[in-house]
Amino acid sequence: MRIDIISVVPELMTSAFSHSILKRAANKGIAEVHLINLRDYATDKHKSVDDYAFGGGAGMVMMIEPIAACMDDLKSQRNYDEVIYMSPDGEMLNQSVSNQLSLKQNLIILCGHYKGVDERVREHLITREISIGNYVLSGGELAAAVLCDSVIRLIPGVLNDETSALSDSFQDNLIAPPVYTRPAAFNGWKVPEVLLSGHNANIDKWRHEQSVKRTEERRPDLLKGK
Ligand code: SAH
Repeated sequence: MRIDIISVVPELMTSAFSHSILKRAANKGIAEVHLINLRDYATDKHKSVDDYAFGGGAGMVMMIEPIAACMDDLKSQRNYDEVIYMSPDGEMLNQSVSNQLSLKQNLIILCGHYKGVDERVREHLITREISIGNYVLSGGELAAAVLCDSVIRLIPGVLNDETSALSDSFQDNLIAPPVYTRPAAFNGWKVPEVLLSGHNANIDKWRHEQSVKRTEERRPDLLKGK
């Protein structure tokens, strides 16, 4: 998979993609993320990427020309499955959206900044809009990093133990069961006996029961959605 992220502050995302699982995915050649500085596509001599809003009002608006030039350049090199705009009024990100996107080959993600992008970008150049929650961020960069992380870790081969993503919360509309590691007792707080038993069938049964119990307690809405 290849993801091209267009931004006016790509530096905001460098750390997210240079460590841990996302770095490993890049090193293995499974998912490469390219951070593109929109300013490189500015069409005037001041390298402008934003301008005042028509009709007045506070806040700058990202201009269509640099965005269109950047997307044209990318699209001339390969076909893209989706051109995503990170937006607080977009479709809400969830595990099902991440699963769908993890099957794609090439994605463009546009990060807004300031007041957002000229509406014509959204009407004509974007195929999908995604929000990471009902709150407003200063820019789409952190949201794009969240989206990429949730998508890339689902691609087979990225996680060492491939079954591990499948047992995560939400994957089957259930919350993940509790996990423990050594020591088996701390301050008198003990790890559930069954986990130390070595009896795999019983452990699986216990984990499933715990998942269902947790989901009922914490997220009954997930069970209703089934
Ligand atoms: N004026 C806009 C908010 C602009 S915030 C409004 O009221 O809807 C600047 C940029 O941050 C947006 O263009 C978007 O790319 C990004 N952003 C802000 N909140 C976000 C969220 N919850 N999910 C995804 N992207 C978000």
